Amino acid sequence: ESVIRAEGLGKTYAEGKMHTPVFDGLDLNVAAGETVAIVGASGAGKSTLLHLLGGLDIPTAGEVYVAGQRMSALSDAARGNLRNSSLGFVYQFHHLLPEFTALENVMIPVMLGGRDVAAASAQATALLVSVGLGHRLGHKPGELSGGERQRTAVARALVNKPGCVLGDEPTGNLDDKTAANVFELMLELNRAHRTSLVLVTHDRSLARKLDRVLELREGRLHELAGSRV
Ligand code: ADP
Ligand code: ADP
Repeated sequence: ESVIRAEGLGKTYAEGKMHTPVFDGLDLNVAAGETVAIVGASGAGKSTLLHLLGGLDIPTAGEVYVAGQRMSALSDAARGNLRNSSLGFVYQFHHLLPEFTALENVMIPVMLGGRDVAAASAQATALLVSVGLGHRLGHKPGELSGGERQRTAVARALVNKPGCVLGDEPTGNLDDKTAANVFELMLELNRAHRTSLVLVTHDRSLARKLDRVLELREGRLHELAGSRV
């Protein structure tokens, strides 16, 4: 059973007279609980692929299925709801709302899912405790360290118990030690919750720790054996 499936995926940016396909006929299956790294040269299309998988951009060919639902068949509102309930996102920059506390930032996806304040607060607190931030609930992003901000973003990504987390260089903006901590935390939590992970990274030593490493090259995904990474 796959949490995310891409079939014959194609993307061409139409800018001026340039119509260069980023990829064409790309297939991907992410099974429940599976962790997948996507590596590739700069400009290979990794971010584009992640945006398509997350329903943040529309493919020019093929289909993306999230939790069995065909993304292109959904209204914008339904796609937004599916994104909020079935996917978590962690980016290189945390994208936390600066005027809200860590707790409030993590509560927002729960409330968007229709839960009341008390339920959202309980769920968000539990997640923040599990990322080691039980003592930072009332801090705003500007009062948190870089690592703490990114751990808050990880808590936000997982708070609705999504089937899959999509990460685009989630530790790329942290020093090596903090990056390693945040990465280990993500792996640990994903395993504990049986959440799948699709991680875009240029760091092959991080990539090697996941179940599969796929290289995006010439518009296709190529499976790399561990020893070759
Ligand atoms: P990566 O994440 O692997 O570095 P990207 O997905 O960012 O690659 O980019 C893939 C290709 O698509 C690049 O050639 C890039 O210039 C192009 N591209 C990305 N976004 C846009 C856009 N919004 N409009 C036009 N071209 C784009
Ligand atoms: P790191 O090495 O993890 O980036 P920092 O040196 O940025 O940590 O911060 C150390 C500690 O001080 C962190 O726990 C952080 O929450 C706290 N802290 C940093 N800046 C502020 C602030 N402006 N107000 C309150 N606490 C802060």
